[in-house]
Amino acid sequence: EMFGQLTSGLESAWNKLKGEEVLTKENIVEPMRDIRRALLEADVSLPVVRRFVQSVSEEAVGTGLIRGVRPDQQLVKIVRDELVKLMGGEVSELVFAKSGPTIILLAGLQGVGKTTVSAKLALYLKKQGKSCMLIAGDVYRPAAIDQLVILGEQVDVPVYAAGTDVKPAEIARQGLEEAKRRNVDVVIMDTAGRLQIDKAMMDELKEVKRALNPTEVLLVVDAMTGQEAAALVTTFNLEIGITGAIMTKLDGDSRGGAALSVKEVSGKPIKLVGRGERMEDLEPFYPDRMAGRILGMGDVLSFVEKAQEVMKQEDAEDLQKKIMSAKFDFNDFLKQTRAVAQMGTMSRVLGMIPGMGKVTPAQIREAEKSLIIMESMIEVMTPEEREKPELLAESPARRKRIAQESGKTEQQVSQLVAQLFQMRVRMKNLMGVMQGGSIPALSN
Ligand code: GDP
Repeated sequence: EMFGQLTSGLESAWNKLKGEEVLTKENIVEPMRDIRRALLEADVSLPVVRRFVQSVSEEAVGTGLIRGVRPDQQLVKIVRDELVKLMGGEVSELVFAKSGPTIILLAGLQGVGKTTVSAKLALYLKKQGKSCMLIAGDVYRPAAIDQLVILGEQVDVPVYAAGTDVKPAEIARQGLEEAKRRNVDVVIMDTAGRLQIDKAMMDELKEVKRALNPTEVLLVVDAMTGQEAAALVTTFNLEIGITGAIMTKLDGDSRGGAALSVKEVSGKPIKLVGRGERMEDLEPFYPDRMAGRILGMGDVLSFVEKAQEVMKQEDAEDLQKKIMSAKFDFNDFLKQTRAVAQMGTMSRVLGMIPGMGKVTPAQIREAEKSLIIMESMIEVMTPEEREKPELLAESPARRKRIAQESGKTEQQVSQLVAQLFQMRVRMKNLMGVMQGGSIPALSN
């Protein structure tokens, strides 16, 4: 698996936070060291790693913990979000010409998969209902022209070839004319690659680019080349001006650094990725899915997102005001405990994931059972009683009535009332507001 090593390297970072209650400057030092090492081993360049670690650290210490989410889970989420940002955030779509054919020029070194990508891209666009034509511009390798003709037949897309004696810029002009005659939607031109960057290749590409005036200039890079891929994208962009990259061989066992660094290093997005040798194996580059694949913890990520939503829904501000004014009542109590119960259900899901979740099923069942008991008592309270728990603290008769109506003991009712006042105090302490809020003794 491509990101296998990176994934397990990051895992040791989360593991170091197990048992911690919050993220602090001190306790993230070790995990951050693991993250740094994992990225460097994945062949991400040092400056990129430095910036990445810096922003993850800031984010980790700066954001408050989400209720019900453990620090290690929260760090997973922060790293995910930063990985997505690193890879450019949103998916970067291909641009199509507003009028006339869309012209896509492909460049790249030899052997990276350029010819294969030409045909894959034609098939990919054909599936979107666009008619395509390929232009064979790799005049230095006759075999490359034959290869493109064969692949063109395979995906049922016409190939314009003019042999090896015509200059690439001239082939480009002729091919483009042919494409306009055929009225195709997209023209894709394959060009010659060299083993290394040289001036002749760049000059030739510049000429072809002038002849075509392309909508997209995409550099095909090989994921296996690691950091080198990001450097190539930068160089080609400076030399000829490109609109993005296509990264091939993501199915191989490369270490992944290339996919992570290209955008950050070159400023140009990866638009598409090749994930196999079949013609169908070309797809858009989704930074979020890629990040998810790297972390391999889809369940944790969606859990943290849900917890964040619960927090928002709860209208925290309103709750805070109530707590400050000691008005935290049974309605709020119910809301609170239900939110916590919801988290319990989620942590049961988490508990199924090896290595995650310390909450035992027995503990969750226990919590759910006591929630049902509490709910049945709150249900039989009058609206006034719910809003003024003091009424219950002062009146044994009211507590007796609630016990009878809910089928619970008077002791259970007393416990519930005491619990509510304890909660008030605890929350007040939490807010650093110490005035008032003593636990009233139940009169009897
Ligand atoms: P070019 O010299 O850049 O035109 O490279 P080719 O298109 O001839 O491809 C070189 C080799 O890489 C071929 O054997 C392709 O089948 C292989 N290849 C291209 N893309 C991929 C990919 O995404 N995954 C894998 N596994 N192989 C690929």
